[in-house]
Amino acid sequence: SPIPDYLHHVLETARPNEGGAAADYIETLANADTSKMAICLSMVDGNVYSAGDDKIEFSIQSISKAFVYAIAIEDAGLDQVLSKIGVEPSGDRFNQLSLERNTNRPMNPMINAGAITAHSLVVSPTATLDQRTERILNALSRLAGRQLHVDEEVYQAELKDADRNMAIGYMLKAAGIITCDPQEAVRGYIRQCAINVNVQDLAMMSAVLANAGVHPVSNEQIIPQTSVRQVLSVMTTCGMYDAAGDWVSSVGFPAKSGVAGAIIGALPGQVGIATFSPKIDERGNSVRGVAMCQQLSREMGLHMMDAS
Ligand code: GLN
Repeated sequence: SPIPDYLHHVLETARPNEGGAAADYIETLANADTSKMAICLSMVDGNVYSAGDDKIEFSIQSISKAFVYAIAIEDAGLDQVLSKIGVEPSGDRFNQLSLERNTNRPMNPMINAGAITAHSLVVSPTATLDQRTERILNALSRLAGRQLHVDEEVYQAELKDADRNMAIGYMLKAAGIITCDPQEAVRGYIRQCAINVNVQDLAMMSAVLANAGVHPVSNEQIIPQTSVRQVLSVMTTCGMYDAAGDWVSSVGFPAKSGVAGAIIGALPGQVGIATFSPKIDERGNSVRGVAMCQQLSREMGLHMMDAS
């Protein structure tokens, strides 16, 4: 197949771009090897193609938000989730302390306020941190097709630097959006962000979204189709934070980024995509990752608004 050669070409085209910087709010991310780069395509027919450092693990960070939103919908029901979390792009930074004016809901599940709320709905509003973590780890592992683990170093470091997320948790509690202990919800959210993955895991997880919730390899229906539609819609409008508009026009498939430098994309009916490169821009999106996705979209004709 010519695809791996092509993916190498995409990597090497993006490599000279030295823009951005590794996230520096915790040591583990600040010390990331910024020379590492990887890309993986997981087709809905089960074929997987990758290039670069495709076995390098990093914390999933905010990419977990898309999948935990799907789990919350499964565990609490879509109506309950919609009553607690909006679906409007916020145009704010990912860790903004903000709620919708009339409903008190977080604007969407892709910013921290919405993600902490989604986390609190996993299993049940009275579940423990361990129960929610186990549920999320099992679900993400099933999507990836291998057992995933929490990076305890990342988890501990993020806990020490959690003032802002704790503030968001207390804001949600005060607004009546979460009913559990806010610290428990925030710790659980931070733990979900500290799950380690590589680009092959992420591409497979996105491929499930691209394949209407059916795992391309096991052929099991893992996520109900109605949840997939909900998740991909919110990824399209909110997945790249305050860069969502730029992203939709220049790349044109639903996506989600994480502060460790990964991006996932899912083109329905075709492919799950994952890129990794640690240097991120001021909006929190990987600089080379965005460049690679733009190139892929342009050269492979992946923009969802293009009639093919
Ligand atoms: N753990 C990070 C946080 O909540 C994740 C943020 C991200 O990936 N954008 O601040």
